[in-house]
Amino acid sequence: MEETLKILVVDNDETDRMTVRVTLNQAGIPMILHEVSDGNKALCVMKKHNYDCVFLDYHLPDQDGLTLIHKLRSLEIKIPLVVLTAQGDEKIAVELMKAGATDYLPKSKLTSEGLARILRNSIRVYRAEMQVAIVNQQLRETNEQLIRKNQELEKQREHIQLQNLKLLEAARIKSQFLATISHELRTPMNAIIGFSQILLRPKFGELTNQQKDMIERILNNGKNLLLLLNEVLDFAKIEAKRLELKPEVFDVSKVVHSAVAEMRSLAEIKKLSLLVNIDLQNNKIFNDPVRVRQILNNLLSNAVKFTESGEIWVEVKEISTNLVIIIVRDTGIGISPRDYKHIFEAFRQVDQGITRKYSGTGLGLAIIDSLVRMMGGKIFIESQLGVGSMFKIELPRKVTLTSAMMDTPGINLDNDGIFYAKNSSYNPSVSNKTSMGYPNLKL
Ligand code: ADP
Repeated sequence: MEETLKILVVDNDETDRMTVRVTLNQAGIPMILHEVSDGNKALCVMKKHNYDCVFLDYHLPDQDGLTLIHKLRSLEIKIPLVVLTAQGDEKIAVELMKAGATDYLPKSKLTSEGLARILRNSIRVYRAEMQVAIVNQQLRETNEQLIRKNQELEKQREHIQLQNLKLLEAARIKSQFLATISHELRTPMNAIIGFSQILLRPKFGELTNQQKDMIERILNNGKNLLLLLNEVLDFAKIEAKRLELKPEVFDVSKVVHSAVAEMRSLAEIKKLSLLVNIDLQNNKIFNDPVRVRQILNNLLSNAVKFTESGEIWVEVKEISTNLVIIIVRDTGIGISPRDYKHIFEAFRQVDQGITRKYSGTGLGLAIIDSLVRMMGGKIFIESQLGVGSMFKIELPRKVTLTSAMMDTPGINLDNDGIFYAKNSSYNPSVSNKTSMGYPNLKL
């Protein structure tokens, strides 16, 4: 059903108003029609009612159509407005359209079809314009909101950038402090170690057992502290991206044997067997021997530290002419898979409590991870709680000078490059041993 339209006719000529009324009725438009005879009355009713369309005679007794249109616009009354013009008023009609009239119609051409068409068109155009205006308004509001949000985001970004700079500066100062303090502490520590060693020599006179015991304790504690200081110093260097590899050709089996020999006395104290198997066609590798030794020392001292009984195996083999692997296995307390990721983070230990059983800084694996990445290698870990752990380091036989000399990658926080066993199938049991007497590595 067609909607009933509310229409206003503004014309001082009774006959003209009647013509419009009759013509609209002839067109069969359902409507409520109001009629007024001058501009002021038109303004009054338009303020009160919402009309769907107004037919306005241009020549009104109190004002012309243009003045009335201006008044309506200034009052923000928006209505489809069709101006009825006399013969020869075409120029005026153009002015009226510019001022905001929706359309115009010469009175001489008033037919029911023409009037109905102009009425429907005007209403359609007006409603479309209104919708566009609403959408435009919404767009403007959204735009303003976006601008505000953008400004807020920009402020937050600046704030975060500032915080970042402060954090970077704090991290730099911390690394600098760590490097300086550990460096400064190393000199007196070396003196303590050196003089304790001298005091233990027989040529400096006989010591009582008690004195000897005390000096040995000073020496051992000094050595432990020096190891700790070296770890902190390395960590600070890695963080500051100042650690470089010094690669050379060396015999990897010698470095492995020497690291194992150094660890043997500690293993013996805990009654642990320390077994080595080196199966290489070519013993020579091109890498930094000091850093390879450091990796071995760390893995071996962890294996001894976290194993109460059983065995520790060290195995070195080549899986291709270009790849050498070093494996350190133990029958220790093991590591739960949920901790695999964390133990490679700096200062992270499975047991972080102050009453923890095992000493250490939590830096060893973080340093190993950085070194292995600098060497272009990979770390694999396989472990099972209560059964033992296996750390496998895969290294290129020849480190490339670019990776060795390039900036240190920095301490790894997300542990990419470390490979964890998908399920904990770690099994160092005797039945799983190869003919060499070492367990099969299911890698
Ligand atoms: P630290 O040994 O100084 O605590 P690391 O970075 O070398 O630091 O090791 C981090 C943690 O990983 C250790 O505290 C321990 O919880 C775990 N972990 C490392 N190696 C072993 C291992 N062989 N067996 C069991 N746990 C280990």
